[in-house]
Amino acid sequence: MLLADGLRADTARDYMGYLHALHDAGRAQWAELRCEMPSLSRPLYATLLNGEPPLAHGILGNGHAGQVGQALPRHLFQVLQAQGLRSAVAAYHWFYELLSGEVFDPTRHRDALPAGTGIVGARWYWEDDYPDSHLLADAESLRSTHAPSLLFVHPMGPDLAGHVHGGESTAYAMSARKLDMLLAQYLPRWHAAGYDLLLTSDHGMNADRMHGGPLSVEREVPLIWVPHDAGAAGGVGGVAAASAAGASDAAGDADADGAAGIADTAATAVDGRGAEAASRADDKSHRAAPPALRPPLPKRQTEIAAWVLMQLGLTPPDSMKAFRA
Ligand SMILES: [Zn+2]
Repeated sequence: MLLADGLRADTARDYMGYLHALHDAGRAQWAELRCEMPSLSRPLYATLLNGEPPLAHGILGNGHAGQVGQALPRHLFQVLQAQGLRSAVAAYHWFYELLSGEVFDPTRHRDALPAGTGIVGARWYWEDDYPDSHLLADAESLRSTHAPSLLFVHPMGPDLAGHVHGGESTAYAMSARKLDMLLAQYLPRWHAAGYDLLLTSDHGMNADRMHGGPLSVEREVPLIWVPHDAGAAGGVGGVAAASAAGASDAAGDADADGAAGIADTAATAVDGRGAEAASRADDKSHRAAPPALRPPLPKRQTEIAAWVLMQLGLTPPDSMKAFRA
């Protein structure tokens, strides 16, 4: 799962050519959704992890007293851990705070593993200008070392460019182009290792260098799914985010079990609604409809966590907003 911070839906559509190539080839589903409110990072990081809107999980701002270091009591990593599945995370330090309930200290927490999360490898950054190229390399290092079932990757490039130059700037567009070029470098490796990609964003970006409100440019974000086996004849794909295939240790065996469940889930999800979802995505992106042999994507940001768990063959807890196919 790749969370491109502050990436507008239209900017992803206009500047990410590698992803378009995959979509044109029928190997990706491309949809858009409106983020929850307020369209701010920390509240929506929490929403993406636990499926609750900010008013429900209570993390309502970015850096006010009481929110720095505030823990998110329920999240998808706990569900993975309960099934013995491992995760790895390369993300901004606010994720560390949400998962650990501790104020981030770079001298102690650079690679710290939040307890009770099943996260076996982590790399947290704290400067907003930490390069996406380095972050992607961090993520790939974690993936190849730990073979996690879920690899969570969180580059900051678009958000930074938007805050400095605005959401209509050439620098903002360039941040999306650069991320697309990085994906062209890494996604073939991830696919070869059996991982699928779910790319989305927390919120968009206004021309006024900020976000937080209900305007379309601040709310509409991409939701792009690129399963590793979409090119295979008859393949149903199905692994959201990332599911390791072929890991050989004990946790790897759990992964294999999960993968079997995923195939079943995907197969049963292939029905008329799948075609409907595909054509709906097509309406928005003005692209050829991908084959219906794909599970429908979430329609709301609050459904993403449950959807990811289901694609990994797991049952989302009652606290997560149900994904309705
Ligand atoms: Zn921001």
